[in-house]
Amino acid sequence: MTKRREHRRTIGIAEAALDHLKTHELPATPRNFEFWYAYSAGFNRSLNRAVNAVLEAKGRITLDDVQRLHEVFLSSEHIGDRIEEIGGTASREIAALSEGIEQILAETAQYGAQLANTVAYLGSGASKGGSAAALHELIEATQRIEDRKRALEARLARSNAQFSALRTNIESIRYESICDPLTTLSVRRHFDLAIQRAVDEAGEQVVPLSLILTDIDHFKQFNDRYGHQTGDQVLRLVAQSAKQSIKSLDIACRYGGEEFAIILRDTTETQAVKVGERIRQAVMTRELVKRSTDEPLGHITISVGIATHRAGDTPQSMIERADACLYAAKRAGRNCVVSESMPIAGVARDVA
Ligand code: GH3
Ligand code: MG
Ligand code: MG
Repeated sequence: MTKRREHRRTIGIAEAALDHLKTHELPATPRNFEFWYAYSAGFNRSLNRAVNAVLEAKGRITLDDVQRLHEVFLSSEHIGDRIEEIGGTASREIAALSEGIEQILAETAQYGAQLANTVAYLGSGASKGGSAAALHELIEATQRIEDRKRALEARLARSNAQFSALRTNIESIRYESICDPLTTLSVRRHFDLAIQRAVDEAGEQVVPLSLILTDIDHFKQFNDRYGHQTGDQVLRLVAQSAKQSIKSLDIACRYGGEEFAIILRDTTETQAVKVGERIRQAVMTRELVKRSTDEPLGHITISVGIATHRAGDTPQSMIERADACLYAAKRAGRNCVVSESMPIAGVARDVA
């Protein structure tokens, strides 16, 4: 499939996904979009069946339905099943194509022999009636080959569509395998690989590398007071604040429950402190509101620790130093940024 056709096909799927979001009046979050994208692409047949069943029963899909069905059919726990399904579909397609090709090859060989025989027969002074019969048989054989060719072309077109759908499915699995579903930041496994790569690069070249670790302040208290779901909203908000404060080359990951790590390539300590500060301020200035009731929930804050690469560093040694700075930020009263040579860059203020 050409790039242009692939572009048109995927844009078509994305537009259909957007239409579903509008029809069902759902927020256009990455997760909801992914859900309807998967539905519109049609590669996950079990998901489509389940969505259609809900639509038939209720006529619409609520946010709760999306969350439940996403969990069942698209959560990363089911990646194994989906890879198996992809493998099965790909094998079936390849087997059907091979069979079609083998058949047409066998018939073409047979046809070639028939053609040679007919030519020899006609050249050997065959009777008029015999020649007519031989030519008639040849025309029929040509027709059969033509039909077979058309059938194979149709089969190829179907397989092409199937392979495109499989590619979309594989892309979505790749996305899910590196993205944390709650925050859409990279998962810890991806962080481990990315920090190793970044430290290797920094060791070879003389470019600076910084690592930011953040931890939400008194988050347990917040969860206990407002519930885990509201806590999850806060995690999304902190992740969003981090994403909006970094450049495209930087890698933001969900390091642990309420801890985030950001790998900043080509970034000095001073620059990293500025980024940490930006995130800290973005978080503390957000007014939190409980979605279901509009109840104001005040503000939350984060503490930030920063380490910058030194000669001989390993991922582990950098993480340990960033963690020590984070701990120092907590001890210094939270809601502040601590780096190795700048003890406190931000100070707790006007927030409880
Ligand atoms: P500190 O300022 O010292 O960091 O205090 P804290 O309460 O934030 O620290 P602690 O590590 O004791 O608590 C972390 C809390 O984060 C515990 C858990 O309830 C919460 N948490 C971890 N993962 C998640 C999650 O995925 N969703 C929600 N809602 N809460 C989470
Ligand atoms: Mg913590
Ligand atoms: Mg915490």
